[in-house]
Amino acid sequence: MNDPDELTDDVRHVERALSLLSSRPVRDTLYTLWEASGVQLTEDELISAVPHSTETVRDCLEDLENVYVYAPEQDMYKLLPSANLLFLRYLSLFSEENVTMNTRSVNGSCGRCDGELVGAYEDQVLTIKCNACDSLLYHLAFPPTEVAHRDPDGVFEAFEKRTRAQLWLVANGICRWCVGPTSFELVDAETDLEEDAELAHDVFVKHVCDRCGSYILTTVGEILLFHPAVIAFYHNNGIDILDRPLWEVDVCVDPEAVSVRSTGPWSLTVELSCGDATRRLELDESLEITATQDEERSVNH
Ligand SMILES: [Zn+2]
Ligand SMILES: [Zn+2]
Repeated sequence: MNDPDELTDDVRHVERALSLLSSRPVRDTLYTLWEASGVQLTEDELISAVPHSTETVRDCLEDLENVYVYAPEQDMYKLLPSANLLFLRYLSLFSEENVTMNTRSVNGSCGRCDGELVGAYEDQVLTIKCNACDSLLYHLAFPPTEVAHRDPDGVFEAFEKRTRAQLWLVANGICRWCVGPTSFELVDAETDLEEDAELAHDVFVKHVCDRCGSYILTTVGEILLFHPAVIAFYHNNGIDILDRPLWEVDVCVDPEAVSVRSTGPWSLTVELSCGDATRRLELDESLEITATQDEERSVNH
């Protein structure tokens, strides 16, 4: 346990916000404001709705102000976005049952061995991997309520869209959890990562949030997914990669699509291919495209 005197101001603020929730009257006051659905309540309305003494409700409001509650006008109270977020996150993350989804087939095939892709859900994490070579494609937190309330295809579809949105954020240097700034580095899967699972790729992009410290590993292709040179190449060859599941877009999941030319400094070649057409992109360590080369395989009749 950390010494409370050593906690940073940010963590101390979080600890205070959490400790407030241990009080039943505080929870009842918050819940009454939540039920008001965005409408501000007067102090008198709260005192009559919350099943505690007038003095207790006033003390609660004093404690909650500027943490979960604000007063838009004299003696009027409303929830801050922090409280709304708390309810919304809790509603999506807490479920009475332990929600799981047994392993089942997912559309698409493994970029490494062409084997069947399977997905499963356990301990609030959705995993998509290859059933043949065990390569791990996705292993990300996902809300249990959305697994409990959708059919399996709907779960995979929602997971795919949510993951794409998270990739868009980190590709633009924004943390998917706290909106803090993220920075990234290229990492060698064999020497720099201590993952238990079989990773499909030799090189990953590790995005770390400077604010909350959370990190996510992405493939190089997943970050290029939003680059006009990549979208245009597939589009010109009849494929809309914005409408195709991530695990069916070769550049995202095929380890052969990325080759390492140098690790110090990093220099990569990414090959996009579609039918007879190929586009090679050269990337530097900041993942900027430094050269593009297009090739069309000639067909002899
Ligand atoms: Zn495989
Ligand atoms: Zn963050």
